[in-house]
Amino acid sequence: MPKGSDPFLPLLAEVAEVRDLTPDIKLLRLSLREGRIDYRPGQFAILSAFGVGEAPFTFASLPEEGLEFAIRRMGTVTNALHNLGPGDLVGIRGPYGNTFPLEDYEGKDIIIIGGGIGIAPLRPLIHWFIKHRGDYGSLLIIYGARTPRDFAFSDEFDAWAGAGGARLELAIDPPGSPDWRGRVALVPAVVKELKPSPKNSIAITCGPPIMIHYVIEELRALGFSPGQIVTTLEAKMKCGMGKCMRCNVGDKYVCKDGPVFTADQISRLLEAF
Ligand SMILES: Cc1cc2nc3c(=O)[nH]c(=O)nc-3n(C[C@H](O)[C@H](O)[C@H](O)COP(=O)(O)OP(=O)(O)OC[C@H]3O[C@@H](n4cnc5c(N)ncnc54)[C@H](O)[C@@H]3O)c2cc1C
Repeated sequence: MPKGSDPFLPLLAEVAEVRDLTPDIKLLRLSLREGRIDYRPGQFAILSAFGVGEAPFTFASLPEEGLEFAIRRMGTVTNALHNLGPGDLVGIRGPYGNTFPLEDYEGKDIIIIGGGIGIAPLRPLIHWFIKHRGDYGSLLIIYGARTPRDFAFSDEFDAWAGAGGARLELAIDPPGSPDWRGRVALVPAVVKELKPSPKNSIAITCGPPIMIHYVIEELRALGFSPGQIVTTLEAKMKCGMGKCMRCNVGDKYVCKDGPVFTADQISRLLEAF
């Protein structure tokens, strides 16, 4: 947050590009009219659709790639954002939240596990690990969606899979897509089948809460300690900076203390319920 500025005052941004990623996810590329936003992977911004409302969205790109958000149509605000076109204005405030401690993962094998729109916060990480291939061990990406059309960023899959020995494993569920030759399985079942080794590894996951729950269970069964499992959480929030108290769990706020947590921290948070 720039010093001296009103943290609730959004900056103005122009929609530079809109791209359909899936039938219900659009990529919005924004260009700031004024000011600047410095962020790190894991953080999020609050976007305002003028006259409609605000909602939080994770930065889906690395800062040097421009401001990109992958937005799934859910209700009022996301509908309004989906209806924008190039040249339209949005408000943006942030960055908020904590970040993935990427330097702490150096030298480790990385396992990225995403489901659905959960790929949004994972995409800048994938780009980061690809860009800094030499600083990390192996890279395994597991990504699940409902149907082949529901994979966001499918135009990047060749680059993800081809990056210095990285491995991309896709799965759909439920079955019933006649042209799909790949896996039909839920994401936790793919983790169970592939059995990534916990030795010197970090697993980073994001997706629907039920997916995260079972992914953590599978990783624990494989021997991952709670500190080796990292996830990024969502919660209903308004302000993004610990004032509205809508996203608190016990004495923690998802907006300020998260959204990135280790499985260890989550289990302690859940005890607070
Ligand atoms: C830190 C953070 C980062 C996020 N990043 C992204 C992102 O990168 N891309 C993205 O598409 N979404 C993201 N979200 C979720 C996004 O903020 C919500 O989908 C959005 O607020 C819905 O607003 P709406 O006005 O369109 O829906 P509303 O009109 O408020 O709600 C429509 C329906 O969707 C349900 N709903 C609303 N929010 C959620 C939610 N978070 N999870 C499940 N159901 C919900 C409501 O209960 C209601 O049934 C993020 C949320 C948080 C907290």
